[in-house]
Amino acid sequence: MAGQSQRPQVVIVGAGFGGLSASKALAKVGVDVALVDAYNHHCFQPLLYQVATAALSPADVAWPIRAILRAQKNVRVIMARVTGVDLEMRRVRTNEIDLPYDYLVLATGSTHSYFGHDEWAPFAPGLKHIADATEIRRRFLLAFERAEVVELEAERARLLTFVIVGGGATGVEMAGAIAEVAQRTLRHDFRRIDPRNSRIVLIEAGPRLLPSFPQALSHYAERSLRGMGVEILLNCKVTGCDAQGVSLDGGRIEAATVMWAAGVVASPAAQWIGAAHDRAGRIKVNPDLSVPGHREIFAIGDTAAVVDRDGKPVPGIAPAAKQMGIYAAKVIAARMRGEPPPPPFAYHHLGDLATIGRKSAVVKLGFLQLTGLLGWLFWSAVHIYFLIGLRNRFVVALNWLWSYLTFQRGARLIGIAPR
Ligand SMILES: Cc1cc2nc3c(=O)[nH]c(=O)nc-3n(C[C@H](O)[C@H](O)[C@H](O)COP(=O)(O)OP(=O)(O)OC[C@H]3O[C@@H](n4cnc5c(N)ncnc54)[C@H](O)[C@@H]3O)c2cc1C
Repeated sequence: MAGQSQRPQVVIVGAGFGGLSASKALAKVGVDVALVDAYNHHCFQPLLYQVATAALSPADVAWPIRAILRAQKNVRVIMARVTGVDLEMRRVRTNEIDLPYDYLVLATGSTHSYFGHDEWAPFAPGLKHIADATEIRRRFLLAFERAEVVELEAERARLLTFVIVGGGATGVEMAGAIAEVAQRTLRHDFRRIDPRNSRIVLIEAGPRLLPSFPQALSHYAERSLRGMGVEILLNCKVTGCDAQGVSLDGGRIEAATVMWAAGVVASPAAQWIGAAHDRAGRIKVNPDLSVPGHREIFAIGDTAAVVDRDGKPVPGIAPAAKQMGIYAAKVIAARMRGEPPPPPFAYHHLGDLATIGRKSAVVKLGFLQLTGLLGWLFWSAVHIYFLIGLRNRFVVALNWLWSYLTFQRGARLIGIAPR
């Protein structure tokens, strides 16, 4: 396309919530867009935990990027891993090709942070991609299988101990889902173990779960999880993770399955362009989301540090990334048309949602707070609405209805590969 078209070239790196929104918002603008992602699919991260806990299959929460943008003729999808940016030549470097740009949108998201202890990663995987979810699912289901056959009581107890580090929305959702699987789904499936005797421990370094939610909703989540048999350790820091379990401030938990849901760090995009960034590696941007000193480069979503009009940091959540993607496209469109720029980016917070389990969720929408069945129904409806594609909406809704009626989870398939 480069060299064939006289139209300005927009390279968007990342087909997550931000990059996809920016691409779609450029549909009617006279530019050619190259959308680059290291994966061929867009992943709906809010439901990844359901893949990790065998409620949904990977294809229910991810879609081929090419299929999503099939009808948008000014977008070319490139599956490649970006490795850097040549600012002088205005080219994006990937493992496949170099891509020239007139405008560059960096939408490369974030990943989990082990607070300087990356050596913990193999023992406590985090949840970001489909492969992470299927790996966690494998470990967690394998633990029950192995517990069924081991002879030593201490080893059986270790296998039936599940630790989740981080009491934000993902940690709460994981803990609730694992408790349901242990208490309900698997209860009649084994002969030598009783999955209901599993120990599920949720560890949070701060004083309460769901710190971004109002206190009353945090307490509701805590009560609900405790009611489901989840042990909750607050004000508790993990000091080590190894193959046998986790070490804590003044303690130790032997556990075969540990999941990491604490802390995030931005992609290395700031390093590619030598931009100023905050402690989490997010690029500090201008009020129009452009990068200081590079008005042709924009950073959006989880990889950008954006401050709202009231001085508060914009949260790293999907609606914020989408709004930034649409906004960056508007700035590019205005420049292309020689129009005045749009007013500075203003984030509209739509609400906070987290599910705890069957018939239990917490929702905050402005002054409205919902819990219990009502919250859960609202959470379910919102997530089905935001899924891409009719097939996925239908399949997910049907799966949830089935699980609701039967407590069953269909995506429980694992195996042992031949050596
Ligand atoms: C488990 C989990 C649960 C979540 N739950 C919620 C929720 O309930 N509600 C909510 O609003 N938000 C939730 N979030 C946060 C939300 O998913 C993110 O805020 C959102 O995805 C950010 O969008 P983004 O476009 O900035 O990045 P992403 O959506 O992460 O997209 C980044 C894209 O960049 C690509 N990429 C990265 N590096 C490269 C590279 N070098 N080369 C090529 N491509 C690259 C990635 O493959 C990815 O496709 C959750 C996140 C996680 C991980």
